[in-house]
Amino acid sequence: MAPARQLVVVSNRGPYRQESARGRQRWVRAAGGLVAALDPVLISQGGVWISAKQAKDFDTVKLERPDVGYELATVSLARSEQKGFYDGVSNAVLWPLLHSMATTVRLSEAPWSSYVSANRAFADVTLASSKPRSLIWVQDYHLMLVPAMLREKRSKARVGWFCHVPWPPPDIFGILPWREDVLEGLLGADLLGFHTDDFVVQFLECVERFTDYEVDYKKQIVWCGDRPVRAMTAPIGIAVRDREALASDPGVLAEVDRIRQGIGHRRIILGVDRLDYTKGIPERLSAFEKFLRTDRLARERYVFVQVMVPSRTDVRAYAELKSEIDRMVGDINGRYAITGRVPIHYFYRNLDQTQLTAHYRAADVALVTPLRDGMNLVAHEYVASRVQNDGVLVLSEFAGSSHYLKDALFVNPYDLDAVKQTLSRALSMSRKEMAERMRQLRRHVVKLDVHRWADRFLKTLESGV
Ligand code: UDP
Repeated sequence: MAPARQLVVVSNRGPYRQESARGRQRWVRAAGGLVAALDPVLISQGGVWISAKQAKDFDTVKLERPDVGYELATVSLARSEQKGFYDGVSNAVLWPLLHSMATTVRLSEAPWSSYVSANRAFADVTLASSKPRSLIWVQDYHLMLVPAMLREKRSKARVGWFCHVPWPPPDIFGILPWREDVLEGLLGADLLGFHTDDFVVQFLECVERFTDYEVDYKKQIVWCGDRPVRAMTAPIGIAVRDREALASDPGVLAEVDRIRQGIGHRRIILGVDRLDYTKGIPERLSAFEKFLRTDRLARERYVFVQVMVPSRTDVRAYAELKSEIDRMVGDINGRYAITGRVPIHYFYRNLDQTQLTAHYRAADVALVTPLRDGMNLVAHEYVASRVQNDGVLVLSEFAGSSHYLKDALFVNPYDLDAVKQTLSRALSMSRKEMAERMRQLRRHVVKLDVHRWADRFLKTLESGV
């Protein structure tokens, strides 16, 4: 892309984090698709990445980092402001709301003023670090007020925002007491990106219901007076080539052998999730329990490996969920284990990419059954790792990725019998059908490559509506 305008990326978490190794501090690049996509763009054309200063970061507001090749600027928030903004509003209100989990939204005493002041702090650092005509890309639901705050002072800049989570219908979004503020905040942007067409339509419906702006559904434009704001479907994916290369790495293959030896001849069903109530982990465990109950040979033939990454452990709903899952795993293993054979192997920790990819390669079936998910990149990673075109992806119809990975076996994750039956079907699928489906899936995943995603969004943002 021609470096006509300075590129500025704004996100809650930054692209590099500090790690201490053998008494020395060093910077490591953060994992995740966004960083994989935008770090190379910023390295090649320069620019700034703005993020919240993490407690462990160096004691300066701005770090010149010649080895990175672009500028990193940080936003300092007071501890109570950070807690209110991140835990109290982003995690306890906006995350469940945007995932349509209305009963989990904790509105009473939600510290909205912290969300506003934290967004203001991000906007101030962005204004200080950008130029009048910068291309500014704001990320995700933590920062929904920032676009309008930038618009006030940067009429010539191009401002984009991307929604990494689902966007709910108006009846759900309308629960939010600050719904108009959020929409006004977002409509300060020129371009708003969503994973699926459904999310775009639901966003436009919210604008129509809760503001006076004119909505053109056909062109996907909101007219704020004579200023157009475009909503765009831009599904994110993963860095496919990197994942494919890793899947053939000797270290990964050695790890696959180790896993296989540990499991014996049993076939592997895999679940990989952050600990989150949107991921449908208890429902998946219940479906697997039904499967064990109805197929008496299942405990001899299959093992279910569930990787669960610790997340938001100081939010009550997450701590309760962790206890529920621990109890369920214990209960199922207690009932169905036979000596030397435990039906569920449960990891409550973060696996590094080598171990994770080895599990993707070792698994005969990936059970990706979130109750609601913006996209779900685990599904993409599993597919990209199946370089021999085998394995079966069972995918929730409520994951954004179900709009694109059409050759998966789809399930309603709430319908436990359907999950059980689909799991049986996956495990008895012929090699031919498996290969045909996986080949197609791999094509879809390549089309959604995260580098293409970033390129397309930035080109559209730069060229205008
Ligand atoms: N992941 C990881 N280590 C693990 C399990 C998962 O690094 O042990 C990563 C995985 O590679 C994936 C991400 O966590 O990129 C999960 O992304 P997804 O879109 O599926 O869900 P999210 O957690 O963003 O809701």
